[in-house]
Amino acid sequence: MRIGQGFDIHRFSDDPQRELRLGLVTIPGSAGLVGHSDADAVTHAVIDALLGAAQLGDIGEYFSDQVATWAGADSRVFLVSALAMVREAGYVVENVDVTVVAEAPKLGSFKKDMERELTTVIGAPVSVKATTMERLGPIGNREGIAALAVALLKEQA
Ligand SMILES: [Zn+2]
Repeated sequence: MRIGQGFDIHRFSDDPQRELRLGLVTIPGSAGLVGHSDADAVTHAVIDALLGAAQLGDIGEYFSDQVATWAGADSRVFLVSALAMVREAGYVVENVDVTVVAEAPKLGSFKKDMERELTTVIGAPVSVKATTMERLGPIGNREGIAALAVALLKEQA
């Protein structure tokens, strides 16, 4: 068994055209997040947890924000690619657990959607929890959204 952790944070965008994407789900009625790709902080944290567990480095090494190809990219592409690398390294995903930290919007009604989307792509149970910062600090001040993830891998039989 191998365990990995991931963390990501993005700030809110001023661009009214930008959609909020978290855990492969579009959350309506909220400002989007600033990022080179779709800025899906949840999926990025999950990818880092998966890569970390397999000792494969971090998301920035493969999907650099300096590379034009990834401008506006759907983070699903990154996740699928990271999963292929994890498999290639000889591991299967046992489970993933995520905490999203956001003061706004309220994400309670989207947790199940994120779990379903991520579970479908990852092929293992994914749980998504949401919490706030109790109005403390930049996230509490609604400047952005952060996500934490842990992933457990097991050696392929
Ligand atoms: Zn990110």
